[in-house]
Amino acid sequence: MGAKRLDMDKKRVEYYKKRLTTAQDELMRLVTKSERDGREADEEATQDVADKAANSYTKEFLFHQSDENRRLLQLVGEALGRLKNGTYGLCVSCREEVQVKRLEAVPWARHCIECQEKQDQGLL
Ligand SMILES: [Zn+2]
Repeated sequence: MGAKRLDMDKKRVEYYKKRLTTAQDELMRLVTKSERDGREADEEATQDVADKAANSYTKEFLFHQSDENRRLLQLVGEALGRLKNGTYGLCVSCREEVQVKRLEAVPWARHCIECQEKQDQGLL
C-alpha cells in the first residue's frame, strides 16, 4: 500500500459522503424490510401446496435481494472509510484515479473502469 491520497476538495468530499450515506440508509431500510418480509412469508405459509411454492419463491427472491443489498452495504461502508482516510476516488487495484463519471454513476465503485472490466472478465 502506497501513501497515495487523493486531495479532493471539501465540497466534493461532502457531496460523495452525502450520496453514500443516503445509499447506506436506503440499503439498511431494504435489508431490514426484506428480512421482515421473509419472516412474515413464513408465518403466513399455509399447508396449501401452491401457497408453499409461492412462499418458497418469495423467500428465495427476498433472500437473493437482501444478499445483494448486503453486498452493496458493505461496498458503501468501505467507500465511506476511503472518504475518511483520503483514498476515496482511487482505484483499489491500480491506485489511479477513478473516472468522475464512474463515481457519479456508482459512488461506491472500488475500481476504475479499466480494472472493473478486467475484473468482470475474471482477469483481476
Ligand atoms: Zn484501476
